[in-house]
Amino acid sequence: MTQTKPSLLIVEDNELNRDILKEILQNEYRLFLAENGMEGLRLLRQHSADIGLILLDLEMPIMNGYDVLKAVRLDPELIRIPIVIITANDSIEEEVRCLKLGARDFIRKPFNSTVAKLRIKSLINMQKSVDTLSKVEIDAETDVYTFSAFLYYAKELLRNNPRTSYTLSITHIKGFRGMRSLLGEEAMEYVKKEAAFLRDCMPAGSVCGRFFLERFIVLSPMLPYGKEDRMEIYKDLSRKISANTNAKIKIGVLENVDREKDLTSLIEQANAALNSIQDLYHTDICFVEPDLIKQLENRYQIEREMDNALKQGQFKIYFQPKHRSDDGMLIGAEALLRWIHPELGFISPAVFIPVFEQTGFIVDVDIYAWEEVCRCQRKWTDDGLNVVPISVNTSRFDYTVGDFHEKLLEPIARHGVPNNLLHIEVTESLLAELTKEALATLHSLRDKGIKIELDDFGTGYSSPQALVELPIDIVKLDMSFVRKLDDPREQQLMKGCVFLFKSLNLESVAEGVETEETRRMIADFGIDCIQGYYFSKPLPAEEFEEYLRCHSWC
Ligand code: C2E
Ligand code: CA
Ligand code: CA
Repeated sequence: MTQTKPSLLIVEDNELNRDILKEILQNEYRLFLAENGMEGLRLLRQHSADIGLILLDLEMPIMNGYDVLKAVRLDPELIRIPIVIITANDSIEEEVRCLKLGARDFIRKPFNSTVAKLRIKSLINMQKSVDTLSKVEIDAETDVYTFSAFLYYAKELLRNNPRTSYTLSITHIKGFRGMRSLLGEEAMEYVKKEAAFLRDCMPAGSVCGRFFLERFIVLSPMLPYGKEDRMEIYKDLSRKISANTNAKIKIGVLENVDREKDLTSLIEQANAALNSIQDLYHTDICFVEPDLIKQLENRYQIEREMDNALKQGQFKIYFQPKHRSDDGMLIGAEALLRWIHPELGFISPAVFIPVFEQTGFIVDVDIYAWEEVCRCQRKWTDDGLNVVPISVNTSRFDYTVGDFHEKLLEPIARHGVPNNLLHIEVTESLLAELTKEALATLHSLRDKGIKIELDDFGTGYSSPQALVELPIDIVKLDMSFVRKLDDPREQQLMKGCVFLFKSLNLESVAEGVETEETRRMIADFGIDCIQGYYFSKPLPAEEFEEYLRCHSWC
């Protein structure tokens, strides 16, 4: 096997110096020679893959050595090539300036051939091992950096160009998962085209990496136009990539990258912007705005603190009474989770439940709520109160845990609570991925006398199919449905629903009833029960205990 000589580029305007260097180095290296910076850069861009080191003079006509250093530093293709400065000067200021601009070493004039050869050899060897490493940093499928290599080069780019403002953008093919299950490996062709387009059209001084299967991330100098124009440019980019790949491309954009912040958290912001437009058909671009950052920060705080909060008893169960709609009799309550944070105070379930669902922590919390309800039912029974069934919310994620069924049964047995004092609320979203195991869990609980309630009926995703396919006893009409009842057409719909419930032998509960007028209307429609501020807000355990006492029929 023939070993090719490593290549060097010599950029030096003085002919004599060029000749001397040629003399010293030509046996061991293949040489490219340039008389000024401009010529040097041209050769460099032409042979960037071959050139292993640059010998660079500082004072030259047309383009001097400092400008070459700056240009190389801005170009991700060239930045890896070590630069050795040829100098006659031994001023410390000059040395510092060159090192700051990315120079790696110095050779002084007049040349000492042994020193020059040794310095060059050691730098070239060092670079070779870095290059070998960087080969595995390139994603074989798409020819852009792998994510970890992207992080490395993006940080280098930011560090080396402290005065440039940068933009992080993440591109994504809409509906890629669906395409993948439909087309299999063929779907990868879209991803490859997306990467090829990005590689070709990225502005100079950008780096691109692969981020998950079908997402790409680009760090590029910020566009120098007004916000609206920048938005238009990104829209245009999305249209162009879409046209090139035949797929719909969405982009999340974070401008003015903050160097003080950790790069991965900034990437997460751009990714969150992208995720926020996933389901919006007409929106393909989303810029990170302060609101989104705030949401993300809240999310991190929740994730960081939720485990401890559970251990320290910061979660409390509140109880919201349910009454019969005709005679107002108390017939049950719903258990609702509250997070009373020591610093932030009350945090709404609307904020923390989605995070718990995404992290899987919801299972622990729902089991905790169940345990608390069992404990309260035992206590209230022992205290001689007239207890009513309490329904506990479950999330569809609970049913993906193998022993969820046992986890529910164990506290019932331990506290000795009659099964008919417990209800379970499920949402229709469970239907979307209803497994045999989940269905068996619901059937088994129901067979034991635990009633199943279908929550949030009428939220827009409801289908009458859920009423038939899920083993349920009670339907809860969502408050958004109840709120629309002054519209005569909604009233007709409600009448139809009530007819359907009765014919399927299902009880019904209306949520969010706040006024006497709505209560009367609900009762006239034939809906069995009411839960809402009209009767009571959700109450802490001690207050609900009092409520039970006051509403007791004995
Ligand atoms: P949901 O199950 O639909 O609960 C009813 C929500 O409506 C409760 O909000 C309740 O406070 C509120 N509400 C009841 N009556 C009225 C009314 O008359 N007017 C108004 N404006 N609101 C009323 P909350 O407690 O904020 O809970 C929000 C959601 O969080 C719940 O909606 C439920 O989906 C979820 N959630 C709460 N606790 C748990 C839990 O322990 N586990 C699970 N998986 N989800 C829970
Ligand atoms: Ca509920
Ligand atoms: Ca509900």
